[in-house]
Amino acid sequence: MFGTIKDDLILPFNLLNNLFELPEKIKFNQPINSADVKFLPPVTPSKIICVGRNYPAHAKELGNEIPGEPLLFLKATSSIIVSGEKIVIPEQSNQVEYEGELAIVIKKTCKNLSENDNALEYIFGYFCLNDVTARDLQRKDVQFTRAKSFDTFCPISAFIETNLDVSDIRLVTKVNGEIRQDGRTSEMVFSVPFLIQYISNQMTLKAGDIVATGTPSGVSKLNRGDICEVEIEGIGILKNPVA
Ligand code: ZN
Repeated sequence: MFGTIKDDLILPFNLLNNLFELPEKIKFNQPINSADVKFLPPVTPSKIICVGRNYPAHAKELGNEIPGEPLLFLKATSSIIVSGEKIVIPEQSNQVEYEGELAIVIKKTCKNLSENDNALEYIFGYFCLNDVTARDLQRKDVQFTRAKSFDTFCPISAFIETNLDVSDIRLVTKVNGEIRQDGRTSEMVFSVPFLIQYISNQMTLKAGDIVATGTPSGVSKLNRGDICEVEIEGIGILKNPVA
C-alpha cells in the first residue's frame, strides 16, 4: 500500500496506475498512525547507481584525486533495507563504514539527455541513503561490487520527498548521536542535474531507479551495537542499528 506521510499520520491511497504518474487529485483513505505500519522500500529499482568521490574533501580523505568526470559504480538492489532495519556486518569484513548520501529517485525513462534538456523533469523525488561499504574489501578487490553489495548495505528512507530544491541543503551523519559527517550538497563536484544528464548518456535510467550522489568527508568504521543516522535537511532522518 502507498500513502502520503504527514507528521505521524499516513494518508493511504489505492495505486490505480503507476506510482510515478500520480493524478493531480489523489483520493485518500482513512488515515493510519505511522507507528501501526511496517514500512517497506518505496521503490523496486532496476539498478542503484552510485557516484564516487563527488565531494572533494571525501575524495581527499581516502587519498583519491577529484575525478574529471563522474565515477560510477553499481550497488546490488538486494542490499536495500529501510529505516529501522539492521545493518548486518558480514564476517568477511573488519572495516564496514557508513556513507550518508542524498539519493535521487527517477520518475520516467531517461536516455541520452543533452545539456539543453531539463534533467529535473526526470526526477520523482529524493531520500536519504546510506552507501554502507566494506572499505577493506573495496581496497582488496579493486572494483567495488562485493564491498558495496552485502545484504543490508543499502539503507534508504521509507518515503520519497517529492518537493525539494536540493541544490544547497545540509547532510549530517551521526553515529550514536555524535556528528561524523556534516556537509552541504552545494559542495558536490557534479550537480544533481548534471549527474542525471551524464548517466543517461551511459545507460538508460528507468522509473524507480536510484542514483546516490556521493558522500561528504568524515567516513569511519561502524561497530556492532552502533546506531547510524543520516539526516538531510527537508527530507528527514534515516536511522539504522548495526548488528
Ligand atoms: Zn558512496
